[in-house]
Amino acid sequence: MKRFVYADNAATTPVSKTVLEAMLPFYTEKYGNPSSLYSVGRDAKKILEEARENIARHLGALPNEIFFTSGGSEADNWAIKGIAYELGKKGKKHIITSKFEHHAVLHTVQALAKDGFEVTYLDVYENGIVKPEDVENAIREDTALVTIMYANNEIGTIQPITEIGTICKNHGILFHTDAVQAVGNIRINVKDENIDMLSLSGHKLHAPKGIGALYVRRGVRLPNLIAGGAQERGKRAGTENVASIVALSVALDEAYANLEERNARLIRMRDRLIKGAATIERSRLNGDPIKRLPGNFNMCFEGIEGESLLLKLDFAGICGSSGSACTSGSLDPSHVLLAIGLPHEIAHGSLRISFSDQNTEEDVDYILEVLPNIVSYLREMSPLWDEIMSKNV
Ligand SMILES: *Cc1c(COP(=O)(O)O)cnc(C)c1O
Repeated sequence: MKRFVYADNAATTPVSKTVLEAMLPFYTEKYGNPSSLYSVGRDAKKILEEARENIARHLGALPNEIFFTSGGSEADNWAIKGIAYELGKKGKKHIITSKFEHHAVLHTVQALAKDGFEVTYLDVYENGIVKPEDVENAIREDTALVTIMYANNEIGTIQPITEIGTICKNHGILFHTDAVQAVGNIRINVKDENIDMLSLSGHKLHAPKGIGALYVRRGVRLPNLIAGGAQERGKRAGTENVASIVALSVALDEAYANLEERNARLIRMRDRLIKGAATIERSRLNGDPIKRLPGNFNMCFEGIEGESLLLKLDFAGICGSSGSACTSGSLDPSHVLLAIGLPHEIAHGSLRISFSDQNTEEDVDYILEVLPNIVSYLREMSPLWDEIMSKNV
């Protein structure tokens, strides 16, 4: 029986019913501008600040350390460019990052590199995990910032954030993490983990697209992003997106309410999918099998094109991804898979399945019913596969 299975939650998630219900009144009867002095405005202001407090609490931060943005990309750009230009004025023009960051980080540091900054891209090895000692060894006199993602969006690997944060703290260097994939899936405490700045995004955790936040530790001098009114304490002007901010707060409540139970269920589903797909010959799991997001599956199937696989899966009602959504449409293999050492021809045949709490065991059954047949079918038509089999290496 054909089903519809949405399994691309690392790209985006549907807004949950609870979240949608919580946000709707802020478009109609509670539409006040938080900066206005009459009661509908004051009410909106109160709700806004309660949401900020709640979001801060979920991260172990203080309310005045949370700044709302339009999403993860804006938060990453603000943190990295802001600190680079601020500290660059004092001659600190070196940035440390990893080879497999999201493009919101990679393209930002690449732009800085064109503007006189020097960037060190750390290796992520075969398991897709940065080594803390590599961070320490890369630190120089003129290092301004270390930016390493919390969990990778393609292969789901979770980075040793506390160790990296502690090294940065000991060296007096600022540490930013793109935690867009981690927030809502992993418990985070910015103080315990020595994180100075953290980016998050609503639409990866059942809140709408177009809302995110940047945590900035008190004492970090991040320049203002948008000039205008006094919103976000003058750092990012513009009338606040109250409905979406409420949504983000409620989405975090939902995500963290039964996290351990949900993650245990997701890990069971993920591991059953990995085990089932591993029976397909010449397949391999990408990234560490244990230190990965509960809902993340990423495997390569030799001799096929990821794009054809996705089209066939789509025809069967399954939404997955190959590489990251931002690069699909290009024929370049994923920079993440190249960073963990996969050769180009294998990196092309990758499939990412990412589950959320809305997926079920039946979804896993259905994927396992459909996937092996599609892989065989594509291999039958593939000259690449004939070549692989004739060499039989
Ligand atoms: C989705 C994503 C982003 C971008 O967030 P937007 O809210 O879509 O701008 C940044 N980093 C990672 C790791 C992501 O997965």
